[in-house]
Amino acid sequence: MKKYAKFTLAIVLSTALFTGCTASTINVNDKMEDNKEAVEETMKNNDKEINENIESESNENGSDSHEIEDNKEKEQESVKTEEIDLQEVKPNETGQIMVVMYHALGDEEKSYVRTRENFKEDLKLLYEKGYRPISLKDYINNKIDTEAGKTPVVFTFDDGNKTDFNIIEENGEKKIDPDCAIGILEDFNKQHPDFGLEATFFLFGDNPFRQKDLIDYKLKYVLDKGMDIGNHTSGHDNLGKLSENDIQKTMAKNVEFLSQYLPGYEINTLALPYGARPKSEEKRKYLIKGSFDGVEYNNIGALAVGWKPEYSSIHKKFDFEYIHRVHGSSEEFGVRYWMDYFDKNPEKRYVSDGDKDTITVLESHKDVVEESKLGDKTLRTYTLEEKSE
Ligand SMILES: [Zn+2]
Repeated sequence: MKKYAKFTLAIVLSTALFTGCTASTINVNDKMEDNKEAVEETMKNNDKEINENIESESNENGSDSHEIEDNKEKEQESVKTEEIDLQEVKPNETGQIMVVMYHALGDEEKSYVRTRENFKEDLKLLYEKGYRPISLKDYINNKIDTEAGKTPVVFTFDDGNKTDFNIIEENGEKKIDPDCAIGILEDFNKQHPDFGLEATFFLFGDNPFRQKDLIDYKLKYVLDKGMDIGNHTSGHDNLGKLSENDIQKTMAKNVEFLSQYLPGYEINTLALPYGARPKSEEKRKYLIKGSFDGVEYNNIGALAVGWKPEYSSIHKKFDFEYIHRVHGSSEEFGVRYWMDYFDKNPEKRYVSDGDKDTITVLESHKDVVEESKLGDKTLRTYTLEEKSE
């Protein structure tokens, strides 16, 4: 998606005044609206449901997940497919995907601050464990083009902190701070070209990324690199407490502000500030669609705050109006916790079949596929073979 002409940094910066604005980093106290109890309950249900699936699998073919793992080393017949060996790759396209929620980077690890070292380590670990970034929009739209055998992961950054995207001056030249999130992501992508440059930045207010003279440059740069901008309301408002009118106002005002820099780009994803949303269905619909002063918005997804991976969007339980995220911090149920969890429970993880036109799932999982979302994709099912004794 390279809609925007490349703007050279030099041109933009030659006219830029550096105000030395001390990034009024919003002290975001994004509190999880869901408590730990709810987390545990959901995890229990998750486990139960998936264990049931595994169990029915085991009954069918008399193997358990350890044996399935061992299958790799055993001689086996492959299922008829030209592209991949299903027994080897074990695609699981109704499996779970992490949407990782970062805020700021910093020197000290806090609830909503990731140290740069930890962020770099996250990328390294994700890469080594076979995760590959995809865009949030592609995740929601079920357009997953991840290499066979790999697991998609989605990166999000809330609040537009300066540490997410910072321009510095070095030897008289302006350049992208190699220690800001975008600098780190770009560097990692350069070192690992198969780890794509994909992230969505959820912005609010009139000074996204906190360098006022560089707003235009930065917003266009994000899109030019194929990354995305999302809505985080105009005033970082608790949407659970606003009237219908005010919800539409804060949503549309932000779209209006950002769109002046990004004509033609559709801002159609929302990160709920504080993870909060109205209780009434009547009001909730304005999180998705509405208008104010002639500015319309239409969101394809709304993101919660925390605390667990989300189903693939083809799964019947996927709710685009409340997509869970995993904390990109040392919080409980953070990205490291879940990486560890998927190491121990590989069958719960989304594994791509490498073919964007086909959805491949285990026979025992086919009932969880929301067929109305298949579109022109083909559903393919398979069974793991009994291992030879
Ligand atoms: Zn926020």
